Amino acid sequence: MQVKFLLKDSDIPKTWYNIIADMPKPPEAVLHPGTGKPIGPADLAPLFPMPLIEQEVSSQREIPIPDEIREIYALWRPTPMFRARRLEEAIGTKSRIYYKYEGVSPAGSHKPNTSIPQAYYNKMSGRKRIATETGAGQWGSAMAIAGAFFGLEVKVYMVKVSYNQKPYRRMLMEAYGAKVVASPSPDTNSGRGILAQAPDSPGSLGIAISEAVEDAATREDTSYALGSVLNHVCLHQTVVGLEAQEQMKLAGDYPDVVIACCGGGSNLAGIGFPFLRDKIAGKRNPRIVAVEPSSCPTLTKGVYAYDFGDTAQLTPLVKMYTLGHDFVPAGIHAGGLRYHGDSPLVSQLCHEGLLDAQAYNQTVVFQSAVTFARSEGLLPAPESSHAIHAAVVEAKQADQEGKQKTILFNLSGHGFFDLTAYDDFLNGRLQDYEYPKEKIAEALHRLPKVGA
Ligand SMILES: *Cc1c(COP(=O)(O)O)cnc(C)c1O
Repeated sequence: MQVKFLLKDSDIPKTWYNIIADMPKPPEAVLHPGTGKPIGPADLAPLFPMPLIEQEVSSQREIPIPDEIREIYALWRPTPMFRARRLEEAIGTKSRIYYKYEGVSPAGSHKPNTSIPQAYYNKMSGRKRIATETGAGQWGSAMAIAGAFFGLEVKVYMVKVSYNQKPYRRMLMEAYGAKVVASPSPDTNSGRGILAQAPDSPGSLGIAISEAVEDAATREDTSYALGSVLNHVCLHQTVVGLEAQEQMKLAGDYPDVVIACCGGGSNLAGIGFPFLRDKIAGKRNPRIVAVEPSSCPTLTKGVYAYDFGDTAQLTPLVKMYTLGHDFVPAGIHAGGLRYHGDSPLVSQLCHEGLLDAQAYNQTVVFQSAVTFARSEGLLPAPESSHAIHAAVVEAKQADQEGKQKTILFNLSGHGFFDLTAYDDFLNGRLQDYEYPKEKIAEALHRLPKVGA
């Protein structure tokens, strides 16, 4: 029985898929944080090189992937897709469960799919240095590798709770040549401001983004890079879903449900958007499901409104599901899912009913992670484990309804640097956090006032 579906190097996609071309409505405008007026490409030039800005606003359906990037992709792409027969057996389901495995990349996640093109376009545009943030350290590692490949200096503002929980991620980034500081840091105005108010702040992605944006905006030679959320990041990640579509053909199957965890939305967009294209075209009707932590329930409990992407209100305003730009989520182990906002594209598609969202607590998520590790052998990242848990729930529900479903999920990364989280789970130290209703309500009071 076949469990592994492999493609050849020549099957690495030649174009990225841009869902903007097929969305029922065009994306909502991005607004200037000061004037509240729509911004144009020139406004983003201090932060990003022009080729990435062009991709950010493009409505061209297929965007060619330069050969230099495909050659680097070939170091780990095409990634394998597996049929999780042993997991199916372990949970006793009649449904078929498949997973696309992005943990084979050098950083151990899907993130290099975009760090490589981002470094490439920055290099081409003459930038010398990149400032970025990282939650759990996955994005920082991916950017550090890309910087090493293209000779760019990389400075990473790492969310403090992760900096302390995951020292090996920091060491990995440093091994690749990046400079790493715990955020909030004394290196920026935003960091110093937060430290003055809350010296023990665990940090958040929103705070780390403020620091990296400030760094990039105040240095001529430096660009800002974001590992998720933005349209060009979602675009780059579509190689995941495009490959998975070919692999589902090899399996002679098609998913009823496509599942991914959702922090900023990029791995969900990556696996989901190519399948959503089939749905929008009326060819197929897959359900696309975003899975988030109950302690940071952006799509399931947030509001769809204009908000800042960062805490210090430096970024443009984007319309997205948000919990409020100064909401600081509990220090769960899935650091990559601790973001107050979400990709504007994912948000809009969710708002229009084309994507579903679910939220789970971390202890049930880790139970499924361990079931998966003991049956399939791979140790999943805490983030990816949210997708595993949702797939297990989906399969069990189908069994109860007497149905047999085809379920595909994205295993966005491995958990080799997250062993403290497993240690906490296995020794009963892992804590669930109540839905932080009051904190969110309070943060939502501080949403910027703009006519939406
Ligand atoms: C960063 C990360 C995520 C969350 O980010 P998205 O942009 O929502 O994909 C999920 N899984 C892993 C392994 C990550 O590193």
